[in-house]
Amino acid sequence: MSAVQSIKIGSRPNLFHFTRRSQPMVDRADGIYLWDKSGRRYIDGSSGAVNVNVGHGNRNVIDAMKRQLDRVSFAYIFQFENEQAVTLARELADRLPNGLDRIYFVSGGSEAVEACLKLARQWAVATGQDKRWKIIGRMPSYHGITLGTLAVTGDDVLTKTFDPIGRPMPLVPAPFVHRNRDNLSVDERGIRYANMLEEKILEQGPESVLAFIMEPIGGAATAALVPPDSYFARIREICDRYGILLIHDEVMTGIGRTGKFLGGDHWSCRPDIVALSKGLSSGYAPLGALAATERIVGPVVAAGGFLHGHTYGGNPVACAAGVAVLGEVDRLGLVENSAVMGEVLRGELEALSGRFPFVADVRGKGLFMGAELYADPLARTPLPQNLNANLRLIDLAFERGLIIYSRRVRGGPVSDNFMVCPPLITTREQIGEIIAVLGDTLEALAAELDL
Ligand code: PLP
Repeated sequence: MSAVQSIKIGSRPNLFHFTRRSQPMVDRADGIYLWDKSGRRYIDGSSGAVNVNVGHGNRNVIDAMKRQLDRVSFAYIFQFENEQAVTLARELADRLPNGLDRIYFVSGGSEAVEACLKLARQWAVATGQDKRWKIIGRMPSYHGITLGTLAVTGDDVLTKTFDPIGRPMPLVPAPFVHRNRDNLSVDERGIRYANMLEEKILEQGPESVLAFIMEPIGGAATAALVPPDSYFARIREICDRYGILLIHDEVMTGIGRTGKFLGGDHWSCRPDIVALSKGLSSGYAPLGALAATERIVGPVVAAGGFLHGHTYGGNPVACAAGVAVLGEVDRLGLVENSAVMGEVLRGELEALSGRFPFVADVRGKGLFMGAELYADPLARTPLPQNLNANLRLIDLAFERGLIIYSRRVRGGPVSDNFMVCPPLITTREQIGEIIAVLGDTLEALAAELDL
């Protein structure tokens, strides 16, 4: 069956959501588990879409939202201030580095990235740099599904379809340093990848380039790809040299996911604008945000304001969820737990890689771990694409009551990978549980695909 197919499903012939197979009806959820209507239990090893950071059924978040619903369920952001949005902005600003203390709320990750791109462009116009409009992205990458975000996303399947509508922006290769066959050190390779940004800027004409967007640790498109330390400093240096803004997409990596509040905090990164979503509300409400420095926001506000706005931007109930989530992240020590449990998970995945040689390149930070599937791990030969190993892996795990995230890299060197990203409340025992089911799953995959 094709991966991109809408099938009419008996119980919901009218609901037109992307799916490639019949899915169970969800019934309830608690902690790191979900149950379907038949009573089957699933371990949420992907935190939904890598967003349910505080876990399911958190009473404090639910109660905070209920209190807000009882008080004011909606007030239009262009008519009223609301305390929850003001509080969440302050709470976020307190936790973000590098003067990223000007916050703007939206309803999700794509909207957050889209808002970052627009803010960058408006900053250029407001500061008399109208010629700057190109935003360089990476191949492969994922920054969202709206036309604006697709323009900076590096994905062969998506761009093939939508390029004629959205304008595709220039892309540079994502730093897959582990795949290179040369005598360079990993840090030297990091510099080489970063230098490709400079080459691209020069090729495009520096006066036309506005910004560079990247995830500090690559998520959906690259399965927790961690660039070498050298990469970050060099990227910032290049952006500064050409007056180019650095946008970090922390939609997936933010809010403690990688064992620091932001993914970029592992390297003391200095982005100008950051996109947040997912873990910010942990799935309790649709919520996203952009955070920028006053250097960027000031001129835009002075020139008449940000030409942006959504009906649900700064929604009080969503922001109440965000405030409560940040409270839970602190109260339960989830950033620290992510760091500690991430190392436990890394060790277990490396052990699985030893047991199943087709699993290799275990990587990531915190509870944001990934690995690749290879036909020949030494030569890093990908599995034949017609095996659809990533889809089989998801299904075999699901049948065994484990949800994991698995994708095919679509752009640059094609390969299958998977990520294990359970909620940040996950305990050592629960990691053992995840690994036991994952081991059974990989055994079944090996038998089925003759690996
Ligand atoms: N940016 C990144 C890095 C993401 O991983 C995602 C979603 O997976 C998005 C943006 C888009 O977020 P959303 O699906 O909430 O629109």
